[in-house]
Amino acid sequence: MKNWTLFYPFIIAATLVVGSMLLILLPDYLFVLIPGIAIFPAILLFIYLEKKRPFNSIWNQDAGDKKADLIRTFLTLPTALKLGEWIVPVLVYYPVMFLRDYLSFETITEIHVFWQIVILLLTSEFLFYWLHRWSHENKTLWLFHAVHHGAERVYWANAGRFHVIDAFITGLAYAVPIALLGSRAEAITTLLLLSAISGFLEHVNIQFYAGKWNYLFNTAELHRWHHSNEVEESNTNYGKVLIVWDLVFGTHLYNKDTSGLNAGVKGSKIPHTFLKQVLYPLEALKSVQVAETSPSGCDRPDQSYTSLP
Ligand SMILES: [Zn+2]
Repeated sequence: MKNWTLFYPFIIAATLVVGSMLLILLPDYLFVLIPGIAIFPAILLFIYLEKKRPFNSIWNQDAGDKKADLIRTFLTLPTALKLGEWIVPVLVYYPVMFLRDYLSFETITEIHVFWQIVILLLTSEFLFYWLHRWSHENKTLWLFHAVHHGAERVYWANAGRFHVIDAFITGLAYAVPIALLGSRAEAITTLLLLSAISGFLEHVNIQFYAGKWNYLFNTAELHRWHHSNEVEESNTNYGKVLIVWDLVFGTHLYNKDTSGLNAGVKGSKIPHTFLKQVLYPLEALKSVQVAETSPSGCDRPDQSYTSLP
């Protein structure tokens, strides 16, 4: 593993093995805990490797953002994602099951669990791709998503640096296909496990080259470009686990020369503390309504501004 080319798929595979063992060992009602348990050893490994083998050692320095990042990673993100996962099933899954009984409507529950995971992953990633892309191209949604991009360094705890509204939208991207397609608990748990480990793995500040894996997974090598402070570089690589929809829709960016790569939002005044980040989009939105021009510090999506329908 000279260039650590297998690092990315190894972590994914190891996490899936741990998750599969937990699926066998734990009763159904504890499946909800599996993503959190299975990724925990990997998070410790990421923290260790970021110190030992950093992609950019400056990104390891606390920029006054660490406390807020940790609050979001271990509190806000899981809560918002779970809300998304719970609300949609209540609104969509049970009506779908009701219709299925009366109209002989087929879900994917009966097919092999492997194919359930493949179908769920492709559809969830498709929805995530477009919601994420929309969050970059729509000025209102960008105000919420900008909190994530405001980080001027890319490291493991960026995985949780999302505004609660943005995180909720992310939760919907995965919950809607689950609700509409129906599937077994094992498939849903595996899907959420893949999403969870990828969230950390795409942000890690660890030096490795993913090579051909950059055409299947949204690796950290690709995702760093998504955090670039250059708009045209950042409006790429929208996938979460997979990068295939970026390849399909022409937004895949793989540039091995990272000498000019800087993270963040140019001219941004996005705060570092937790509460100020929560309030930031709301205050910026007021500025938009008052001035009808870009709010200070968040003028990035002007070039591709589209109104909410
Ligand atoms: Zn983004």
